[in-house]
Amino acid sequence: MLLKRKRYKQVRVPGGYRLEHRLVMERHIGRPLLRTEHIHHINEDHLDNRIENLQIVSIAEHNAIHRKGKPLSSELKQKLSLAKLGVQKTTETRMRMRQSKLKFSVEQLRDILKQVESGVSKAKIAAAYGVARTTIQNVCRGRYYDLKSVL
Ligand SMILES: [Zn+2]
Repeated sequence: MLLKRKRYKQVRVPGGYRLEHRLVMERHIGRPLLRTEHIHHINEDHLDNRIENLQIVSIAEHNAIHRKGKPLSSELKQKLSLAKLGVQKTTETRMRMRQSKLKFSVEQLRDILKQVESGVSKAKIAAAYGVARTTIQNVCRGRYYDLKSVL
């Protein structure tokens, strides 16, 4: 826990310490950040708090960014193999099984939803991304990610 804390720069403020990257972003946007607004370090260097390296993301979005391509924990692996056998299916394992098959990044999901909203046909979007039309339909139904957190 202590090691993890050291990965971020802290700044002394009246009454204690605050994370420097949050202060930098607050100065930039001119208001305090909400608790639900997380800061992602774009180049993954948590000590690089230049404003151009910082991005406001929702909690779910932040989880999605860091999960992508990362190996699963052994606990989740076990849960997933049980779920594949049809035992112990949970909301988490269901969502994760779908996500593991998903080829889209959060940015691409946003792009797809934007295109659907502006009236582009799902077949056309599917062709552009090289996936089946049902995949696009499933994205719109929120089968992979909670859409509210993506948008
Ligand atoms: Zn991050």
